[in-house]
Amino acid sequence: MPTSSESHHPADEISRQRRWGKPPWSDEAFPSAPLDPSHADVAIVGGGLTGVSAAYHLARRGLRASVFEASLFGDDASGRSGGIVLEGTARGVLPGTGQCIEKLQEVVSAEKIDCDLQLQGCWEIEHAREAQDRVLPWRDGGLAIRVRQSVAGGTLNPMGLLAGLARAAARAGATFYERAAVRKIVRGVRPAVELDGALIQANYVVAAVNAWTNVLLPEVRPVRSALTTACATQPLSAPALHELGLGAGARPFYTVDLPYLWGRMLGQNQVVFGAGLVFGAAPVLEGVDLADDEPRQALEQLEARVRALHPALSRVGFAAQWAGPVAIADNFAPLIGRLPDAPSVIVAGGYSGHGVALSVWMGAAVARAIAEDTALPGWGALAG
Ligand SMILES: Cc1cc2nc3c(=O)[nH]c(=O)nc-3n(C[C@H](O)[C@H](O)[C@H](O)COP(=O)(O)OP(=O)(O)OC[C@H]3O[C@@H](n4cnc5c(N)ncnc54)[C@H](O)[C@@H]3O)c2cc1C
Repeated sequence: MPTSSESHHPADEISRQRRWGKPPWSDEAFPSAPLDPSHADVAIVGGGLTGVSAAYHLARRGLRASVFEASLFGDDASGRSGGIVLEGTARGVLPGTGQCIEKLQEVVSAEKIDCDLQLQGCWEIEHAREAQDRVLPWRDGGLAIRVRQSVAGGTLNPMGLLAGLARAAARAGATFYERAAVRKIVRGVRPAVELDGALIQANYVVAAVNAWTNVLLPEVRPVRSALTTACATQPLSAPALHELGLGAGARPFYTVDLPYLWGRMLGQNQVVFGAGLVFGAAPVLEGVDLADDEPRQALEQLEARVRALHPALSRVGFAAQWAGPVAIADNFAPLIGRLPDAPSVIVAGGYSGHGVALSVWMGAAVARAIAEDTALPGWGALAG
């Protein structure tokens, strides 16, 4: 695993293609232009859902937004997500975040984004000592699993959402630059972003870099970064899915206790499962290969756990295995705010693995704050 050193800028790691396996989402075309701007109304660092949503909502308000992505669009958390649509934040529904799903649905429908959004609800599941559940007859680590309640939510194809939103933003006038690592955010009344061989002035800078937040901005509230692993089963037969409780009417699920496990249907007959965290600083995680000891062991543990859930899974094979970064904020309260010493620099990120619908809401909130000079929510304050 590489480590950073003074002569080796951490962002060097990020311009390589990641070796975190391939999620089962379709490959998508992203808008991308050769790097040439000297000015942008808003320079957005990071081309995940937060940055792309900010660009979309800014462009719709007539502001010139440029998105600088160090790697390839979709090759970070947003394109590697499980695509479970959740309401609010990992800390619960914080003020203003109670309609993230509705807002997501509005954007998907207005822009006709092809991302297979289905709002069938989610099952919150938990471990239990009593007899097996009638809905999900699984056992996990010697305990039964039971459905605690159904909550609002659903599933989508995260790559489809990211690419569709980027294309909608490009149609509205936003520009996108791939393999364009920002080395530094230059503070000032008019801030700027510094790339290799280019300094781009802007009226505002938005840092939407998720696991990289403290690398670019060490002074903001700490965000711990970790790789989390996921796998998709081979197709299962209809009777096997029925036995598992994942036939017609199945919902995506996630544990509300530990050990954590989440999952969802993929198409009609595959199931995606995810769990496990490999902690490390973002530049170190960047160099991790899925075949390295720690992520490989995390994946093996996940797959062994899946096979032990139910006899119908005991010999299941896996069609896809992958990992992606999560950024875990203190108290699980996401970051969204202006830098105290440079209010024209806005930071959004740290969703603690709960960011598909939230990131789209965050991008919209950042755009509103810039266009209307409104305050950002107090719970997102950047101070440590
Ligand atoms: C395996 C996995 C499964 C998940 N499943 C779910 C789920 O089912 N439901 C849910 O709600 N959430 C889920 N999440 C979380 C969700 O995907 C994220 O919260 C969300 O995608 C974060 O979006 P983002 O735009 O903030 O970050 P990212 O998508 O990580 O984008 C940040 C971008 O910034 C770029 N960047 C970093 N530094 C620089 C720099 N210096 N210059 C330029 N660019 C830079 C990175 O390359 C990256 O592309 C999952 C995450 C993972 C990893």
